[in-house]
Amino acid sequence: MGLFARLFKKREAADHNRPAPIFFANTLSGRKELFVPQRPGIVLFYSCGPTVYGPAHIGNLRAYIFSDTIARVLEATGYRVRRVINITDVGHLVGDGDRGEDKMAVGAEREKTTPEAIAERYTRQFIEDLDTLAITTSDIQFPRATAYIKEQIALAKTLEEKGFAYYIPDGLYFDTQKFPGYGKLGDLVGVKLEAGARVGLVKGKRHSSDFALWRTAKQGDLQQWDSPWGRGNPGWHVECSAMARSLLGQEIDIHTGGEDHIAIHHNNEIAQSEAASGRTFVHYWMHSAFLTMNGEKASKSLGNVVYLSDVVAKGFHPLALRYFFLQAHYRTPLSFSWDALAGAGNALDRLWKLSDEIAEESREKSAPSEARDRFLVAMRDDLATPQALGILWETLRSEEYTPEEKWGLLQDAEVHLGLSLTMPPLAPEMTPADIPEDVRTLLAKREDARLSKDFTQADRIRDEILNRGYHVEDGPNGPVLTGRV
Ligand code: AMP
Ligand code: ZN
Repeated sequence: MGLFARLFKKREAADHNRPAPIFFANTLSGRKELFVPQRPGIVLFYSCGPTVYGPAHIGNLRAYIFSDTIARVLEATGYRVRRVINITDVGHLVGDGDRGEDKMAVGAEREKTTPEAIAERYTRQFIEDLDTLAITTSDIQFPRATAYIKEQIALAKTLEEKGFAYYIPDGLYFDTQKFPGYGKLGDLVGVKLEAGARVGLVKGKRHSSDFALWRTAKQGDLQQWDSPWGRGNPGWHVECSAMARSLLGQEIDIHTGGEDHIAIHHNNEIAQSEAASGRTFVHYWMHSAFLTMNGEKASKSLGNVVYLSDVVAKGFHPLALRYFFLQAHYRTPLSFSWDALAGAGNALDRLWKLSDEIAEESREKSAPSEARDRFLVAMRDDLATPQALGILWETLRSEEYTPEEKWGLLQDAEVHLGLSLTMPPLAPEMTPADIPEDVRTLLAKREDARLSKDFTQADRIRDEILNRGYHVEDGPNGPVLTGRV
């Protein structure tokens, strides 16, 4: 073979090895971009983790199903993904500001124990929740902020030495005026106004957007460490910059979080990391939209916070929640209601039943199809999960595809969506004898209400049935009851 032919062959092989294109919406540019990691084949991926002063609510969990979906798409496309989710176990303040209550102290006070015990309890629960939602936690590093105090101090020191920080009695502050392009991630307008109201609260702070790298210990602070600036504790933002740098390096490919983190937390992470290294900190910033409760913001004071344990206690399969999240695009705000979750649970049950039939018909042999290609393109197009689910449903119901093609699609769908599609946990068929007496009575009452067209009453009874862990769906032959899986 001549030289050119050999070179050409090599090029062809390289093209062949090149992963399929993936597009992600990058908050930094405000555009969908082709994803290209810095090093071929490897993705360095950091997600902001929870503050472990209580259980994560289902809104928080939406953010991790989102980052898990990114990792699944990347891995299925052939990348090796190095993942970090930090655990915030240092008592930061409630809200993004400089003053307020220390969250870990709030948790310790509530449960009459130490911040360490609170951190341990809720870190474990967080990781268990992720496992329950089919997130492979063994592939993720979960560094604790308290284990990286030295690194946080070192980063703050570098910033001070480079002239990006100033010391005041309250602690060491980052001088945002010294960092050109501060706020490049956007969303700063509203924040500036709000923070401006607070600037007077910290004596000596030069500008409203300046933020603490190290906070001088206050009397009664439960968590404090020695530092070049005296005893105290690190500012919240510095933790992510220091841990991302220690575990993944100075330049990383993807960084995620909820959209609430864009304005302050992530703009501050960029300022700290880039001021220290002189390099681009993150190439793709990705943010998920909020989960609201019946259209309202989730908040403990409104009493509308829901945990994964509540979902399970009501008899839902935890993957019903995962399906519920995937039905919406991650950049679309999503409103939670028990009814909507029941709808997702029913749809997933039906998918599982279909999959069970297809497994039998295909004898679990798979074949490629154009439907499978469309599914992959949708997932690689900024995680278009609603479209991907649409393709899945349409294909499984269609008579134009062979059972083997359907099974092939189910296999790919499982890798990307993590819904137990190829091993459905089917509930045993329910016979009337399986239904508890009280649920049977409610079911009969609901039928009466429906027949007399009192739909408000029928819906109310359906909620009662739901509270007992059973779902009612109105099929062509009357109501169908599905119970705990
Ligand atoms: P936090 O413990 O408040 O830092 O939250 C952990 C993660 O959950 C962050 O990425 C937040 O942006 C995200 N988050 C918090 N509340 C919600 C919500 N209601 N909906 C979606 N994501 C949320
Ligand atoms: Zn963070």
